[in-house]
Amino acid sequence: MRLKVFALPGDGIGVEVTREALRVLRHVCNKWNHELELTGGLLGAIAIHQEGTPLPELTVRLAKQADATLMGAVGHPDFDNYPPHLRPEAGLLGLRKALGVYANLRPVKAYPSLLDSSPLKNHLVEGADMIIVRELTGGVYYGTPRGITGEGAEMRAVNTMTYTRPEIERVARVAFRLAQARRKKVTSVDKSNVLENSQLWRLVVTEIARDYPDVQLDHLLVDNCAMQLVLNPRRFDVLLTENLFGDILSDEGSVLAGSIGMLPSASIGDQLPSGAFAGLYEPVHGSAPDIAGKDIANPLAAIGSVAAMFEYTFGLKEEASNIEAAIQTVLASGKVTPDLRPSGPPASTTEVGEAVCAAIG
Ligand code: NAD
Repeated sequence: MRLKVFALPGDGIGVEVTREALRVLRHVCNKWNHELELTGGLLGAIAIHQEGTPLPELTVRLAKQADATLMGAVGHPDFDNYPPHLRPEAGLLGLRKALGVYANLRPVKAYPSLLDSSPLKNHLVEGADMIIVRELTGGVYYGTPRGITGEGAEMRAVNTMTYTRPEIERVARVAFRLAQARRKKVTSVDKSNVLENSQLWRLVVTEIARDYPDVQLDHLLVDNCAMQLVLNPRRFDVLLTENLFGDILSDEGSVLAGSIGMLPSASIGDQLPSGAFAGLYEPVHGSAPDIAGKDIANPLAAIGSVAAMFEYTFGLKEEASNIEAAIQTVLASGKVTPDLRPSGPPASTTEVGEAVCAAIG
């Protein structure tokens, strides 16, 4: 098969983890005889430095031409005090919107060999296996009006949280279809006791559920959900929520997996006529300026994102499950980066990438 992949390493550890993800991508293509057409581009702080904008037009064009885009992470302390539309993160938000990838899938799994890496008690974490479906192109991150006005004591800031019925319907359908192939349970998370936005969310999700009678639906308020995620994570199968809540809850979910460096993600839009999904694949974590450039970042979330790319965009399930099995082998071998608190000497980012390739064979 011919795979057209566009790589956007971005900033900080994004560069390091993408290098290892691409190592695994090339390795898998060689092993299964796929022809890889790989291009690279700029996004985030590096794009601001080189092109004066976090999302150059060329980046959008190349991403649209590719079957799949693999991204590292964006963000740099140089821009911490810039207004949101001039920050590196604006590039990522713009790219998601331009590609129409409205459903962000974030699997959260407690790997047996990592139970001791989680600060939670083993008996709570053991067996946790969920997928968070986060709406990605709506809600308060995109709503207008937005901005800061006034001076001194008159300063005022406004953001707008907005969702339309079709925006909720399409992401809900993704969640129900995923649940059908799993344990057949969707938990929809909102704040409908306070927000009208969430009332619409709950209404529409409840309506869509009628089309999937084999899937059980329950609703949780987001504050309770934050608590249940650490008290009783096994209760979740597919967790469906809007953009802001999903952003926060999936970082919390990383505690179950032992490190945020373990969480991959796939952002997909509508199914193409071929049955595949054009997608944007990226680890959940950010550019981690505190550890950038040291070759100690955990690349497994980025490598897991390559597995997701094989599954969702290319429909190559054998390749995907081989990468996932290799990740488990490496974890069990103890050859892991410092964030997973190995009992022996920690491995580098590069060594973990090489070990995954070796485990794939
Ligand atoms: P972060 O995810 O970059 O880091 C949070 C903590 O987790 C840090 O201590 C970091 O060292 C650690 N960490 C993250 N990824 C790791 C990995 N692969 N291996 C080991 N440890 C890892 O979040 P932050 O510090 O809040 O944000 C840093 C920058 O990244 C900011 O500019 C933020 O806006 C940006 N950001 C970007 C994305 C994205 O590109 N998708 C997501 C989140 C944050």
